[in-house]
Amino acid sequence: MTDDAVVSGEHPAAVVVPIFLYHSVSDVPAAGQEAFTVTPARFAEHVEAIAASGRVGLTISEYARALRGERALPARAVAVTFDDGFADTLAAVEALRARGLTSTVYITSSRLDDASGITSPATREIAASGAEIGAHSVTHPHLDELPLAAVVEEIGEGKHALEQRLELSIATFAYPHGAHDQHVRGAVIDAGFRSAVAVKNALSHSHDDPFALARITIMGDTPISTVLAALDGRGAPIAWSGERYRTRAFREYRRLRRRARGVSRRPTSVDTAER
Ligand SMILES: [Zn+2]
Repeated sequence: MTDDAVVSGEHPAAVVVPIFLYHSVSDVPAAGQEAFTVTPARFAEHVEAIAASGRVGLTISEYARALRGERALPARAVAVTFDDGFADTLAAVEALRARGLTSTVYITSSRLDDASGITSPATREIAASGAEIGAHSVTHPHLDELPLAAVVEEIGEGKHALEQRLELSIATFAYPHGAHDQHVRGAVIDAGFRSAVAVKNALSHSHDDPFALARITIMGDTPISTVLAALDGRGAPIAWSGERYRTRAFREYRRLRRRARGVSRRPTSVDTAER
């Protein structure tokens, strides 16, 4: 299937929109980031594949507006996102832009201007080039495991910090680790965001939830065939609605494990694939 990629069943005639999730694009992965780091050579192949697909690149806010019926959804759209805020994200965004593709960069506010993170000037440059900047919490916790007050703080303060330091309005949010539930989703809406991305490793589509958009994680060893299949509207499940049982069960497992080990909460820096 190509431009006529259609989801049958619950939502007849839904149009598939692949949303790719990248982290670092580098030949020298940061410690602990090896599995999630894509080399620039591989990334260049992906960029060529995306450009060659003829799909129209959208920022997440543009896509969310289309889902709400506030603008047209191109017949063949694609979105590329980068999480966490690595120093190498600027070059990756530029590589996409050189092929006419926009992107969205989600920044963990505590990483902005830190040793391994992207700088404020580089982030402003990304925004000025037409790509979108989104928020990704302050410290990158599993939000679905926190008390609501802490959830509200992580979401609201992450947005506020980026807006103050970048002098931008931030309208989209990425759940750290993809972890979210109805309380977290509600807090994102209450904070004034207009959209949010999850992980799910599924294809988004024209009936997807604008506050839990499905993305496909690209790992360092993800073969180009995975990218090509997603661009072709296949090779990954179509995003489901609501929480799957497996997600709830895994959250409970993490809770119990943490309690058993007495593990304290600490910032983590990688979006593991959503369970
Ligand atoms: Zn992340």
